Amino acid sequence: MSATPIVLGARPDPVRETGRSETPRAAVPQRLGALGDPIRDTHGRVHRDLRISLTDRCSLRCTYCMPEQGNEWLARSSILTLDEIERVARVAAADGITTFRLTGGEPLLRPDIVEVVRRLARITGPDGTPVELAMTTNGIRLPDFLPGLVEAGLRRLNISIDTLRRDRFADLTRRDRLADVLEGIAAAADSGLRPLKLNAVAMRGVNDDELVDLVAFAVAHDAQLRFIEQMPLDAGHTWDRSTMVTREEILAALSARWALTPVPGRGGAPAERWTLDDGPHTVGVIASVTAPFCGNCDRLRLTADGQLRNCLFSTTEYDLVPILRGADPSDEAIDAMLRSCIHGKLPGHAINDPSFLQPERGMNAIGG
Ligand code: SAM
Ligand code: SF4
Repeated sequence: MSATPIVLGARPDPVRETGRSETPRAAVPQRLGALGDPIRDTHGRVHRDLRISLTDRCSLRCTYCMPEQGNEWLARSSILTLDEIERVARVAAADGITTFRLTGGEPLLRPDIVEVVRRLARITGPDGTPVELAMTTNGIRLPDFLPGLVEAGLRRLNISIDTLRRDRFADLTRRDRLADVLEGIAAAADSGLRPLKLNAVAMRGVNDDELVDLVAFAVAHDAQLRFIEQMPLDAGHTWDRSTMVTREEILAALSARWALTPVPGRGGAPAERWTLDDGPHTVGVIASVTAPFCGNCDRLRLTADGQLRNCLFSTTEYDLVPILRGADPSDEAIDAMLRSCIHGKLPGHAINDPSFLQPERGMNAIGG
């Protein structure tokens, strides 16, 4: 694999490759756009959504995400500071990114989380419109933080919950903390932040007998349940297609209880949605494995240690650290790296291809 830098020839190679090749370097044009231009990839997709991972640490150990023990944590000194995150976020917003989603690991474990929200929520796009700031969390300790987060500018919440049964929750997350998550969901429901979304990974023999219960629970909290097909992103590399519950199976199970009517106008959203009976509540399915939505993907990711990723499944990372911690951390250099990252984006992931290589990082270190 060539190690020729794409843009910043004077710096150490900012592109780290760990497997499958992206767009050949030789095909990279000299000019990929300038600060303030939309970030468009070679397949015409304009990028609007930046997922910002704040930490790889977590209060749970979900089996599909992290190993129980032996996880190699990012060095604390490698975690981006709030100033560094804000700097990247400002450049991204200038380039037309309209949504920031804070994730991890568990974003609420970051000690400065309220300040992170406050600083990022102030950022506006080129026309002066504030970005939309969202967070994906496991909900633990959310009641403590929520008033401060809302006051600081958080606009949307996704909370993950895969089971309503305490023993299962303890097995699945290796922590006996279902009660804390339920308190977090109750606080979110009371907060008035809408739409409120609950994420559940459906797994055969684990929670596939709870699909209807989970949707009913979400409806009772005025939330939208979104089932996620399990993806090969666990740090232990133990994903097995046979234990994944597919979109079709999820819809079949829910159809026994509700009449499902497709909601039109999905746009770039990862979830397909259906109205439950006559509405107004809906359920979503994110079928990343059996019905990928790569053609409309408008997301890029910033890991907690300053790596840009153009896809969850990418094996190439674009290192912002030499820029952010170098002598000249110019906005133009950050912009150039954002563009290089998106220029290298493949048309789709290759989970269903025999040549598929799982990324080295687990989901907790990529940022879900
Ligand atoms: N800790 C927070 C949480 O759990 O919501 C945020 C980070 S977590 C990595 C973000 C989302 O990724 C969660 O909804 C989680 O269920 C999902 N996720 C993690 N590993 C996954 C996998 N292998 N396949 C599908 N979804 C996964
Ligand atoms: Fe933690 Fe979220 Fe991963 Fe579960 S899915 S281990 S809550 S980062």
